[in-house]
Amino acid sequence: MRNILVAGNWKMNKTPGETVEFLEELTNYCKQNNHPEVEVMIAPTYLAISEARKAIADAPVLLSAQNVSMNINGAFTGEISASMLKSIPVDMCIIGHSERRSYHNETDSKIYRKLHVLLANGITPIVCVGETLTQRKADETMEVVIEQLDESLNDLNLVTGKEIVIAYEPIWAIGTGVTASPEQAEEVHSLIRRRLAKRFNPKIAENIIILYGGSMKPANMEELLACPNIDGGLIGGASLETEIFTKMIGIAIETKKRN
Ligand code: PEP
Repeated sequence: MRNILVAGNWKMNKTPGETVEFLEELTNYCKQNNHPEVEVMIAPTYLAISEARKAIADAPVLLSAQNVSMNINGAFTGEISASMLKSIPVDMCIIGHSERRSYHNETDSKIYRKLHVLLANGITPIVCVGETLTQRKADETMEVVIEQLDESLNDLNLVTGKEIVIAYEPIWAIGTGVTASPEQAEEVHSLIRRRLAKRFNPKIAENIIILYGGSMKPANMEELLACPNIDGGLIGGASLETEIFTKMIGIAIETKKRN
């Protein structure tokens, strides 16, 4: 059975000081409330990532970056390489987030290159896919998601399926307060899993964690996690306050205890 991953994407929020303050509370919570099949991850800004590493120390909390350069090193002003992230060390890295796709021209072929530099450095990529509202209204969701998935994974080889995480994030649900219904989300998640089974094999596909992202919050988390192919959340706004984020970790733990 797959673990549940509760992943907080902080985007451009929190100074290093605020990060440490948040993580003191989060690590206390996670040391007292944990379940072997529930993983917790936070993605602070690059600036706070070293402080975050120290703050989570031996706590059961994973550390993620929000982006990585597709290049190995050299004259790329403002960029951070996968080997730099490894030196922290960072456990995971979000790639292909819709905000990077739309504001920074992150294409599927760039995501493919980022995926490879991360894997070469032992960092788990979280590959984001998802459609716009216009694409959903035009009934193009399935083909958009399949194309993003196929092109970003391209010729990738996996041994177990635990090397990568996929996040389905309908763009119309990100930061809008509008969440995909469990039925809408599960329809796409099961399509993704079937595609992964075809692309790799059913056993590998069964091991790949597929997160839902898009205005996930305590009020809708339980019903989303009840869907067979939803293995957790990539959580933006609701991950910024310890009280709300820890509540969501608690919901994930209760879900696992029931199953
Ligand atoms: C995200 O940034 O990945 C996200 C899902 O944000 P929010 O939860 O705020 O919609």
